[in-house]
Amino acid sequence: MKNLKNWVGEITGAFSATLKHAFAERDTVCYPAEKPDLPERWRGRIILTVTPEGEERCVACYLCSSVCPSSAITIQGAEREDDERRYAEKFEIDFTRCIFCGLCEEACPTRAIQTTNDFEMGASSRAELVYDKSRLLENHTGKYPDFDYFKRAGVPIRGKDVGEGANEKPPVDVYTLLP
Ligand code: SF4
Ligand code: SF4
Repeated sequence: MKNLKNWVGEITGAFSATLKHAFAERDTVCYPAEKPDLPERWRGRIILTVTPEGEERCVACYLCSSVCPSSAITIQGAEREDDERRYAEKFEIDFTRCIFCGLCEEACPTRAIQTTNDFEMGASSRAELVYDKSRLLENHTGKYPDFDYFKRAGVPIRGKDVGEGANEKPPVDVYTLLP
């Protein structure tokens, strides 16, 4: 008799829990018909962005590839002929290796590399998940619409040029360091 009472109690409890959840508001969304509303800081597909004037922001400094814990980034730098400004001749991200940690974005001084809230990166082969520059470069400024590194770095402040401020040393000419 005691066993029967326990059994009835358990069945009743299970039914009431099922009924309660059947009519409760759902926490899940009906993806892909309904897209989840992800925050702007979501670390999804990585892009390369441009300045407000439409110039590539990346200066091929290799900071992102150096900091990447899974060695997912491959860069080959070059210099423009007209103004000797550096740019990435080749830029590749292997998304089969990327763990979306966001360290590359944090390390980038020019805010060129940015994570987005796009997570729909399905592919039918591993090779398709290696994005080259043509797939990474977007013709927009991303999260920083007004940011232009070259208008902030190396510009005179209060009439003093770079290296002339208090406690500043003149910049090093990197070409003098070459063997
Ligand atoms: S998000 Fe992390 S793992 Fe992915 S490319 Fe950037 S640094 Fe590397
Ligand atoms: S994306 Fe940023 S950190 Fe990476 S090489 Fe270009 S400028 Fe440097």
